[in-house]
Order: sequence, then structure tokens, then C-alpha cells
Amino acid sequence: MTAQIVDGRTVAAQLLDTVTNETAQFVHQHSRRPCLATVLVGDDPASHTYVRMKRNRCTSVGIESRYVELPIDTTTTALIAEITALSADPTVDGILLQHPVPDHIDERAAFEAIAPDKDVDGVTMHSFAAMALNENGFHSCTPGGILRLLDAYDVPLAGMHAVVIGRSPILGKPVGMLLLARDATVTYCHSRTRDLADQVRRADIVVAAVGHPALIRGGWIKDGAVVIDAGYNPGNIGDVDYAGAAERARLITPVPGGVGPMTIAVLLEQTLAAAKAAEQR
Ligand code: NAP
Repeated sequence: MTAQIVDGRTVAAQLLDTVTNETAQFVHQHSRRPCLATVLVGDDPASHTYVRMKRNRCTSVGIESRYVELPIDTTTTALIAEITALSADPTVDGILLQHPVPDHIDERAAFEAIAPDKDVDGVTMHSFAAMALNENGFHSCTPGGILRLLDAYDVPLAGMHAVVIGRSPILGKPVGMLLLARDATVTYCHSRTRDLADQVRRADIVVAAVGHPALIRGGWIKDGAVVIDAGYNPGNIGDVDYAGAAERARLITPVPGGVGPMTIAVLLEQTLAAAKAAEQR
């Protein structure tokens, strides 16, 4: 079997088209644009690039972006004060704190200063609980993007055995929760898992979220499985041995061009949803 490629660029472009059209309708109805505030602490070049990409995408779909840039020596207290002010600002619909923040900052405390109804990046405990309890709320963007990709390719989830490798709060854990909410049987693997290969061999759906190039060997993939590679490592290498896995899988995401483009698309979709909800309050 040679896998069909899951084309995240196309699925993300379709989602962004919908967001663009609905944003235009929103502007027409409410005489204002939805607004996403991005908060960046310090001068990490990769973080600057990510924030710039998010701002550019905002502009291209008609969402206003506000930019808060803070020096690297910002204290937790000062960062919380900035985020609290954005949370209270009625002209801001969504707040994104670019992470990781510098080591001296209490990242969890900073996330929790984001008002739940503006947590369009899905990083607060409120959003996490909503995903865990299968209640309405914002998804962590990459997990939300993965679910939208699976749906775009009509991958059945109920009863499927999904093996998620990685358990970070923004990626591995929530993607497992979203799959569980859709009635998949979910196994989490992590750095202490014994015999990772054996776990992966049993998976109908593999979600790799580790950050370790080609950790998941092609020979571990069950024939006909669906392989979602969220990993992004230097040199455009995913967490899955792509060539080997593509020989056995039914569907596979490339790196780049698979999961990656979905993240920003979900962020903007959720910003628009936050703006619509604000107008209804
Ligand atoms: P993270 O916080 O470093 O978490 C990595 C996870 O992988 C941890 O749960 C860790 O286990 C597990 N792990 C490490 N080594 C392992 C091993 N040998 N076997 C099994 N599990 C192992 O990383 P993250 O933020 O979730 O990101 C993961 C990857 O996704 C990275 O490549 C990142 O660049 C990428 N990513 C992509 C997007 C996107 O596409 N837009 C967004 C976010 C992240 P422990 O918990 O036991 O330490």
C-alpha cells in the first residue's frame, strides 16, 4: 500500500477561506473587525517568526492583530498585568501568549490570566477542562487542527485505536482527549513507555507529538493505519520515518504541509468565534 497524502495546506486554505468570508460578514454586521492580541516576551527569533506569521495571516483574513512586545526581563507579575488588561479590554476578542516564555516566568500563571472567553489558543485550565469534559470551548490549536484534518479525510474515529505519542499540555494530552470525546480508544505513550514499537503496531491511528526526528519507524505502522505527524524538527523532519510509514499507511501527513498549516487556521477560526460570542453577550 502507498499512503494517500493528507494535504494540510489545502484543508487549511479551505478553512481560512471560510474564516475570510465569515469575517467580512462580521465586519458588515458589527462595523468592527475581530481582534487578536499577540503577546511576545523576549527576543527568541523563532518566536518572533511564529508571531509574525500569525499576524500576517490575521491581516489576510481581515482580522485585526494587536501586538504586545515585552522585554526579556519582564516579571511574571508584569506579564500577568498586561494579559489581565487585554482580558478586560472590550476591543480585544482573542489573546495569544507566544510560548515558551523565558524560564523565569511562571507560564501557567500567565496563561491563567487569559479570560476563558478570549482563550483562542486553548491554553488555559478552563479550555483544557472543556476538552476533557467534551463541553463547548476553545480547542488547543494544533489538536483542534488534527481533528479537523481527520474529519476532512472522513477518517472514522469511533472504536478506532488511537495511539498518541507525547503528552504535553498543548498537544499530546489534548489531542488524546479530543479523540476520546469522539469515541476512539486512546493509548498515550511518552518517554517512560516500555516498548513503543509494540504500542504503535496496534494503532489504527498514530499521532506523533514528540519532537524527535523519525522516532516512529515505518515498520511499526500497521497496514492501513492513519498516520498524523505533528512533530517538527530541524531540517523539516517529522517524528515519523515518512518513507517507511507511507509504504504501509492508508493516509499520512507530510512534514511540512500536514499538521503545521492547520494550527494558525484554527487559531483564526477560534478568534472569529470569540468575536461572534462577544457580540452576543
Ligand atoms: P514537548 O512538550 O517537548 O513534549 C514531548 C513529548 O514527547 C513528551 O510528552 C515526552 O514524554 C515525549 N517523548 C519524548 N521522548 C520520547 C520517546 N523517546 N518516546 C516516547 N515519547 C517521548 O513537545 P510538544 O510541545 O508537545 O511538541 C512536540 C512536537 O510537535 C515538536 O516537534 C513540536 O515542534 C511539534 N509541534 C508542532 C506544532 C504545529 O505543527 N503547529 C505545534 C506544537 C508542537 P515525557 O512527558 O515523558 O517527557
